[in-house]
Amino acid sequence: MRKLLIFLGLAFLAATPLQAAGVRTRQVSIGFSCGRGCLWQDGIHRFAPPALSIDGTPISANVTHLDPLGTPIHLKNGATEYWFTGPLAQDVHLKLQIQFQVNDETPVIRFRYTLKSDQARRMTTPGGAQSLTYLQTSLRDLPDVKEVSLSNFAQLTHSYTLAEQAIDNRYFEDRGSFMGPILAAGDGRRSFLLAYEHGSQVPDAFLQYQLSPNRDVRLVAVKGNYLSGQTIDDGHSWQSVWMETAATEGSIDELASTYRRFVLKYMAQNTATRIPYIFYNTWNFQERNKWWNGKPYLESMNEERMLKEIDVAHRMGIDVFVLDTGWYEKTGDWTVSRQRFPDGLKTVKQKLDSYGMKLGLWFGPTTAAVSSRVVREHPEWRRSWNGEVAQPQEVWETEKSYKMCMVSGYADAFADELIRLAREVGVTYFKWDAIAQYGCNDPHHNHGGENNTPQERSDSYAFQLVQYMSHVADKVAAAVPGAIVDFDVTEAGRSVGLAFLSSGKYFLINNGPYYQNYDIPIDLKRTNSNLFFYQGQARTWIARTPLTFDKWIPSTLFLTHYFPDDPQQWQEVDVASLILGQDGIWGDLLNISDSGVAFFASALGRFKRVRDDITESDPVVTGIVSASPEIHEKISASTGRGAVVIFATERGTYRYITRHKVAPEHWASEGVAVSSDPAGRARIEANFDRPGAKILFFGVR
Ligand SMILES: [Zn+2]
Repeated sequence: MRKLLIFLGLAFLAATPLQAAGVRTRQVSIGFSCGRGCLWQDGIHRFAPPALSIDGTPISANVTHLDPLGTPIHLKNGATEYWFTGPLAQDVHLKLQIQFQVNDETPVIRFRYTLKSDQARRMTTPGGAQSLTYLQTSLRDLPDVKEVSLSNFAQLTHSYTLAEQAIDNRYFEDRGSFMGPILAAGDGRRSFLLAYEHGSQVPDAFLQYQLSPNRDVRLVAVKGNYLSGQTIDDGHSWQSVWMETAATEGSIDELASTYRRFVLKYMAQNTATRIPYIFYNTWNFQERNKWWNGKPYLESMNEERMLKEIDVAHRMGIDVFVLDTGWYEKTGDWTVSRQRFPDGLKTVKQKLDSYGMKLGLWFGPTTAAVSSRVVREHPEWRRSWNGEVAQPQEVWETEKSYKMCMVSGYADAFADELIRLAREVGVTYFKWDAIAQYGCNDPHHNHGGENNTPQERSDSYAFQLVQYMSHVADKVAAAVPGAIVDFDVTEAGRSVGLAFLSSGKYFLINNGPYYQNYDIPIDLKRTNSNLFFYQGQARTWIARTPLTFDKWIPSTLFLTHYFPDDPQQWQEVDVASLILGQDGIWGDLLNISDSGVAFFASALGRFKRVRDDITESDPVVTGIVSASPEIHEKISASTGRGAVVIFATERGTYRYITRHKVAPEHWASEGVAVSSDPAGRARIEANFDRPGAKILFFGVR
């Protein structure tokens, strides 16, 4: 066999250089001739093939040889995709396909595996446990290891939060496991990354990294990754989640910067999801109207009010105007409410078009009204739990709705509904609310049958949910140019991780913590339960805290709204916060003063001239949120353009020297003096005579 391998290798070297060379770009070199137990290697890091249980037997997806499959594909985001295939040494009826996506700007490799078979095979769960290793590699020469988790739900901010945890050698010695999804390792001079694209809240792991005393690390399935008895045959293949790896020079912090650039530019095919538009959403005013003015949530959701709001939003510089809940007749059908919008949003869309603004709409993707067509025609797509379909519930003052199963034929029906609506009313931004990770164990959907246990079906639903969501978002984006899907993760129990970021973005914070989170006794029947609901600076402390994501994942992917309310003292704090990447505004637009609107217009106008520089910049943060000073530098290392914002809650003079060289042109708030040092950095002195924020734009006058 060994001789045959060498022979085949030589044969392909002559016939098809791709086989011999694997994949070679300016950034990476992927090779296949890497010895026993190795499927492929990237420079010095070797990856073992996936291993799984087939018909009760442990199978390694080691291949006898690999051939290129088709020609390289140039993807829309500028990356290139390569496919290879080869038969398994242990079972020639099974074929492994490897898909690599590489780019010329970063050394991050995105890859996944597919198994096909020309004879029926079944994936098995020996002893009822998942038996699936996605990859195995060694961290032997990299003493510093960190887990980067993205889905810790912090009660202090009522938000998902990034957390980095050092993994000391004791966790290798004692065979510890970590959920990730990112594992970073280094020795100070070079660094290495492993990541997988899935999503769930810590500590509810579906995949995890399993450590060994010899410093091997395996990425293994924990639950729900496949079903007991899942078939691989002519009509069914098994496909892994997407995984990522990168080997770089430099520290783990430099690795984070490289990975951040990959997420911004090369992870998703739909690059519109990464554009730092300024978003407005009607929800906050709907909530204020309910709790301050004693009106129904949907009272303000009508053409007259929306046209007035669009005028103000345009004057402020907002790009995307999002109608939150209430624009529709009923869930499921997703047709425009003719009572609220007599011409079906036509006038609204015309006004938005005349201002060059985009239309966004709210959706409850897993809800469909009792009388909706999808429920009448496909009642079998409703979610069920232990054989019972839950009673329908009212959705935001509209018709009672059932919960629908996204891991069923409903997913494509929902995608088609969004595409139809995009064609009819011109919506390109889709806010998806209230999608819980768990909720269906029905045996007639696509997540297990009668021969699987209810627990298995529930786990399979939860595992596949985010993949189906991505499928819907990708289908919509393919049909609707510029479409963006935003997944609301403002509550616990959502599928937060890397998977959805390959198709869309997150809506991170609603209002942050509730009174209950802070143990403040209130009568929930009479009071809004939102604690950080009032104008001023306090809400911005909550909303800025999860900006720590920006080190690894661009903050542009975590939409969060800030208030537009007067006085300008707080408007400056809001603008200074939102331009750091969360990019959202909501509140009572019709009650902002003219000078307040003019302030937003001038500040956002300057922002838009450097927003791409800000978006590509690594964050440089000094100080603690809500302490004085709290400084955020977002200056592009390549252009010197971008912004520095300084917050202070105490009066006084604060000084800062930028880490990066800055472009000579700049604009700064009142009370700020700027000079340049010999190295081209900016020396900043900011004088605060009251709490607030100072904004500095570089590259703009
Ligand atoms: Zn289901």
